[in-house]
Amino acid sequence: MNYKNKELEDRINTFSKYYKNKYGFKVFKLGLSTLIPCPLRAKGNQCNFCIEDTFTDTMTNNYKDINSQIDYLSEKIRDKVFKNYQNEAYIAYFQENTSSYGDIDYLHSLFKQADNHPKILEIIISTRPDYINTQFLEVLNDIKKPYKIEVGIQTIHNKSLQFFNRNHSHEDNIRAIDLLKKYSINTGAHLIIGCPLENHPKHKYVLETIEWINNQDNISDIKFHNLVVYKEAELANIINKSDLLNLPHYLEILTEIIKNIRPDIVISRLFTSNLNRHNKMLNDFPGIKKHWLNQLKGKLNQSDIYQGQNYKSKSRT
Ligand code: SF4
Repeated sequence: MNYKNKELEDRINTFSKYYKNKYGFKVFKLGLSTLIPCPLRAKGNQCNFCIEDTFTDTMTNNYKDINSQIDYLSEKIRDKVFKNYQNEAYIAYFQENTSSYGDIDYLHSLFKQADNHPKILEIIISTRPDYINTQFLEVLNDIKKPYKIEVGIQTIHNKSLQFFNRNHSHEDNIRAIDLLKKYSINTGAHLIIGCPLENHPKHKYVLETIEWINNQDNISDIKFHNLVVYKEAELANIINKSDLLNLPHYLEILTEIIKNIRPDIVISRLFTSNLNRHNKMLNDFPGIKKHWLNQLKGKLNQSDIYQGQNYKSKSRT
C-alpha cells in the first residue's frame, strides 16, 4: 500500500484497533455516572475550564442505578453500531466528575453492578490523582472483570496545573501513579493540550510530559483533551484570545506527540469531541470530529509519520 493512503489505525494504536484485536469485534464505551457531584465544585473551587453542562449525556443522571444507565445508553446506540446483537459488548466507563469520590460502600455497589452486567466486558474508572488512595484501591479487589483507572494527570508542569486551578500538583500525579503501580493496576492518563504557558515553538513542555508518561510502565492508555475554552468558564476571563488553541496548531502539536509517544500506548481519544454541540466555545475549531480525524490522517500520511517513531526506550539510551 502506498504510504500516503494509509488509515489512521495503520499509523497509531487507537482504542478501536486495540479492542478489535483483543476481542475480535467492536467494543463501545458507555459513559456512566456515580451521580456524586465533583468534590471541587461542591467547595466552589473548580477547575477553571470545566462547565458541567458539557458533560456527555446528562440524561444518564435520571437513572439512579448503574444497570438502568447501562440499559438506557446501550439501547440508544445498539441499532446504530451492532449488526449482530450476539457481539453487543461494552465498556462501563465511569467518566463524569471524580468517580473515586464518595461513600466507599456506595461506590463499590456501583462498580459491582457493572461487574455483574452481562453486556459489560471491562470497567474504566476515571478520577483525579488526589482521590486515589489505598482504601479506594482495596475496594476494587473483588472486581472480576478487567478494569483500569484513568487519572487526570493533565501535565507534569505545576505552573500549568495552577493556571487551570486544578487543585493538585505533579507530586500528587507521581504519588497516584506509584500507588497504582504498587497495586499492579492498569492505568490510563488524561492530558490537556494547549495550555498557554506551555506554548513553545518545539513543543518542549508537552513533550516533557509525554516523556514522563513513556517512563511509567503501568500507563497503557492516554486520552487527549485539546483545551476548549467555553464562554461561561472562568478560564474565558483570564485567557488572552490570541492564546486560544485552534485546529491547525493542535494538529501540529498532536503530530509531534504521536511521533514521540511509546508505540504500545493505546490512544483512547485524539480530540475533545462534543465541541460544537454546545455552541459555547471561543476556540476556532470548525467542523466535526470526522473532519479533524481526516486532517490528522492527511498530515500523518503526508510525512509518513507513525506512533513512536522518535521514541527511544530507557534500555536503548
Ligand atoms: S475537571 Fe473534573 S475535577 Fe475539575 S471541576 Fe470538572 S469535574 Fe471537577
